[in-house]
Amino acid sequence: MPADYYELLGVARDADGAAIKKAYRQLALKYHPDRNPGDSDAEQRFKEVSEAYEVLADDQKRQVYDRFGHEGLKGRGFEGFSNVQDIFSSFGDFFSDFFGGGQRGRARARGEHLRADIELTLEECFSGTSRRLEVPRDAACDRCEGKGAEPGTSPTTCSTCNGSGQVVMGRGYITMTTTCPRCRGRRQIITSPCTQCSGSGQTRRHEAVHVKVPAGIDEGMKLRLEGKGQPAPEGGEPGDLFVVVHVAEHERLERHQSDLLAELELDYVQACLGDRIEFEGIDGTLSLEVPAGTQPGELLRVPGRGMPQLDARRGRGDLHLRVGLRVPTVLTTRQRELLEALRAASSDDDAPAADEPADA
Ligand SMILES: [Zn+2]
Ligand SMILES: [Zn+2]
Repeated sequence: MPADYYELLGVARDADGAAIKKAYRQLALKYHPDRNPGDSDAEQRFKEVSEAYEVLADDQKRQVYDRFGHEGLKGRGFEGFSNVQDIFSSFGDFFSDFFGGGQRGRARARGEHLRADIELTLEECFSGTSRRLEVPRDAACDRCEGKGAEPGTSPTTCSTCNGSGQVVMGRGYITMTTTCPRCRGRRQIITSPCTQCSGSGQTRRHEAVHVKVPAGIDEGMKLRLEGKGQPAPEGGEPGDLFVVVHVAEHERLERHQSDLLAELELDYVQACLGDRIEFEGIDGTLSLEVPAGTQPGELLRVPGRGMPQLDARRGRGDLHLRVGLRVPTVLTTRQRELLEALRAASSDDDAPAADEPADA
């Protein structure tokens, strides 16, 4: 008669899952064959506590055991473990948790990440936008319903791993569980592959994905859509979709993070006397006061009229206008007269105008 499972793990009869796992972890570490090479007593203990854990960690088996004991489990087909390799096959993931990844768990396999690129205008970056993308994702083949086997045929259990999907490689007293090389962890071998998907069980399908682009987004930023990548084999977590943002150049506005830079052309009179001008910004027409005596190359700052920050609470950047001077190439007679008069007046004020001797 085997020992009582609760006593084997040293836990109370009403212990919860976490307490049972913790108790088993400690005992499994203590009796693990890697730590007790050639010790058959330890191996026996390792089997016993593993069997106890296998039952008590499974709600259904635990209920049967609580009501009917060992005989009840046997009547329902639970035979315990015949050898240590069975334990590794069943608990591969559990051991990888505390044996530093020596056992690679198949259940961890995650779907691949996907990448898509989008191009936005500066205006779209300013206001935020959305895009509908067609993403090529793998999906279950409809002919074989994802099974990979031609309809009417069935896959057979892989004989290399006996359907566990994993094989234990023994080297000395170090054992390692790896994915079965023959069935690649699928547990089954497909003898008549589906003609539509060649046995992969998957087909590629274009799936519409809606991407919300927040205001303030910038060149090179990536938006991550969780779970929109490839589905995982064997029901693991799907991968993510990364949407990489590109921004088209704007014809007038140059972006520097959240600031914008633009050229502002003034004529000589505006620069000298100052003026109220209108400028087309990223969000509409701005009315600006250009101060008298503005110099070419000077930067006029318009606070808060740049791009929004991704974090909206941080407000907007500034708009900087770089002043250029517009010189007319054609003058009316009247304009020429006035400019000549101006030159004469300037010469009077500034005295030595040696290169321009006055007429008359
Ligand atoms: Zn198929
Ligand atoms: Zn196999």
